[in-house]
Amino acid sequence: MADAVLTLNAGSSSIKFSLFRLADSENFELFAKGEIEEIESNAPHLFSVDAKGAPLSDRKWDRAAGFDELLGALIERAETHLGQDKLFAIGHRVVHGGPKHYRPERVTPELLDELDKLTPLAPLHEPHSLAPIRAILAARPELPQVACFDTAFHHTVPMVAKRFALPPEYEAEGVRRYGFHGLSYEYIAGRISVLAPHLAAGRVIAAHLGNGASLCAMKAGRSVEMTTGFTALDGLVMGTRCGALDPGVILYMGQQRGLNPKQIEDILYRRSGLLGVSGISSDMRTLEASDDPRAKEAIDLFVYRIVREIGALTSSLGGLDGLIFTAGIGEHSPQIRARVCAGVEWLGVKLDLEANHRNAIHIGDKQSRVAVWAIPTDEEVMIARHTRDTVGAPAPAL
Ligand code: ADP
Repeated sequence: MADAVLTLNAGSSSIKFSLFRLADSENFELFAKGEIEEIESNAPHLFSVDAKGAPLSDRKWDRAAGFDELLGALIERAETHLGQDKLFAIGHRVVHGGPKHYRPERVTPELLDELDKLTPLAPLHEPHSLAPIRAILAARPELPQVACFDTAFHHTVPMVAKRFALPPEYEAEGVRRYGFHGLSYEYIAGRISVLAPHLAAGRVIAAHLGNGASLCAMKAGRSVEMTTGFTALDGLVMGTRCGALDPGVILYMGQQRGLNPKQIEDILYRRSGLLGVSGISSDMRTLEASDDPRAKEAIDLFVYRIVREIGALTSSLGGLDGLIFTAGIGEHSPQIRARVCAGVEWLGVKLDLEANHRNAIHIGDKQSRVAVWAIPTDEEVMIARHTRDTVGAPAPAL
């Protein structure tokens, strides 16, 4: 008999989940993964596949269903599939931990109340993170739950990098740079220490390039700067988000265009980035395959901003020893990696073009002064580990 952890990653319209078995006291083995799609629609859809991608379950509702019903169905299926094995805890990715929560924490009603108070800092995301936790706490209070904060890894960023140059009352209310994609960067920091121990004590920039995209500068495995800020809107060009923007543009949208905050939010979060610039798609594969000049313009801007920000983060680090690519685009697009590396060749970055082309893990040329890697990220494993460590390892079976 083995023990298992379910991880949940809740977004605005879907909840992604993974089910891991504890293979031994250290390692998790993926058992199943899937998604509940269209959660707030009249047609939610739950599906899962096993570790090899073979279908495990598929259920469609023909009416709206609450989180209690959807998550109840998910947990019941997970427990059925596990058979003799026992689901001993559930771990959640929680977008925002605010200034005080920077370690994974066991969920209690008091913690939920405190996290609720952070909603003004992340009104679009925090409620989605908390709703499943609350539903499970009500339905299965005996099942331990752990909140893993996406901001936590950046807790080590020095205050001077977190402050905005605003009057102090904003800082007092928590308006500062927090940084996101922390679970991904924490996983990457762990992989660097295994794959490239010589880099673990060095100055590394990791580029998480997926639908959301950011850079993180790490010194000796700890975050010292990142491109996301108060929200995950700042920094790089993303699938549908604008990235760094002169705040004067927001004033212009309100004052000259007469847009209200909801309309501005819609443009910045959902109608900008690769999608907004190209007018074609937020998906890098589609843009790479297109010969429309607008697709090229969007990719050019995406690459340019990464190159520019690598320069800025190298300055925060005082030099660069390693550059790591990860997430959908970072792991799979030789073209983007090659263009970014060409843009920062002056820093001593040189790609092994053949290794890059075949999506190898170690893609730096032997002559490269800066080590270059493409390392697959795994936020779910990170959540599972934190959950096990926070709840405590399950008791061995008798
Ligand atoms: P999320 O941030 O939603 O987890 P992913 O990390 O899966 O997203 O990244 C999605 C992005 O990765 C999309 O833009 C997709 O087009 C891109 N991507 C995936 N595979 C490739 C590929 N082979 N070449 C280029 N881009 C790719």
